[in-house]
Amino acid sequence: MDNDDRIVTQEDINNSKNKKVDSEDIELTREFEPLDNNAITEESISDDEIVLDQAKESNIIDEDMNSIRNTDIYAKHNRIQKLKDKKKNKTKKTILFIIILLSILLCVGIFVAYKLNPSSADINADNKTNLEFEKMLDEKNNKNKAVIGQKEDAKKIYGVDAAKVWNSLNTYDIDNNGKKEVFLTFDDGPSTTNTPKVLKILNDNNVKGTFFVTGKAQTIDGAPQILRQLYDNGMAIGNHSYSHDYTFLYPKRIYNEKNFLSDIKKNEKKIQESLGMPNFTTRVIRCPGGQMSWQKTEPLNNYFIANDMVSMDWNSLNGDAEPPKKDAKALYDFAVKESKGKNLIVLLMHDTYGKEETVKYLDNIIKYYKSQGYEFKTLV
Ligand SMILES: [Zn+2]
Repeated sequence: MDNDDRIVTQEDINNSKNKKVDSEDIELTREFEPLDNNAITEESISDDEIVLDQAKESNIIDEDMNSIRNTDIYAKHNRIQKLKDKKKNKTKKTILFIIILLSILLCVGIFVAYKLNPSSADINADNKTNLEFEKMLDEKNNKNKAVIGQKEDAKKIYGVDAAKVWNSLNTYDIDNNGKKEVFLTFDDGPSTTNTPKVLKILNDNNVKGTFFVTGKAQTIDGAPQILRQLYDNGMAIGNHSYSHDYTFLYPKRIYNEKNFLSDIKKNEKKIQESLGMPNFTTRVIRCPGGQMSWQKTEPLNNYFIANDMVSMDWNSLNGDAEPPKKDAKALYDFAVKESKGKNLIVLLMHDTYGKEETVKYLDNIIKYYKSQGYEFKTLV
């Protein structure tokens, strides 16, 4: 091959390039468009082939053509890739949006479920709160249900505020506003011998009395049951100390506060135990021997006032604890004499062991007071 043969003019190159580009365009068009036989003639194919052959004679042309071809394909590839990426991104965004939406819905669902259906821990917490509240109410109700001195139904009919009676005794008010009232009181019981008989007589006469019991008496077999019978039959119950021991309560005849108060409290517990009623209490105390018999008892008054309690002595007695020993007739006479001229009578008697004459006289003295127009009341 000589030099002349290798000489190609610039115009030829341009034509060749244009022809090649046209040829490429046709090729690309064929790739993307349906073949149009009318548009591609035999002449045009022939022209293309000539130009292409000419161009192939030059490496430069081949290189340029390859470069153009590559650039064009790369651009196309890029566009497709970008389209694919764009589509992929759009899909990703859609999936992300759905995930976020589902998460929000899940959170809302959990919240609603929690509100509508609390967990077992919450239920337990609620139950615990309810139980504590009920317990508090029970304690309050039990406090309100405390039985003081006497069964409620009997107290409504027979019970009189012992503080008022105490005031009358201390002011020697025996007129009692013209109202005749007698308080039958029985000390030192309950006994298993005489107390049941006393109870029967009271019941037979449809009257009530007040029993000042000791703790010591309740230690005898059967005595607690008798105390409970007194309560069940509407009798009032007062505290007469546990020991009834003068030397312990009033050493050298002087009131000993420490001993006295501990003895009273000990008896209150014993009464609750005998009755089977931890909610029972009594505010009426009868000092063994009577408060009037002992010295320096002022602190006791202060204690009773501070604790809404009452010390209850008497203003009449039947003499069943006074010498000489009396029979039923003598007891009756003694009591009638003691009661003369008094509208308010607090009558001291005993229902403990050895007081059989008191049992014998009791029905008569009740009938006497009834005949005189007295009402039978209890101290509470
Ligand atoms: Zn006594």
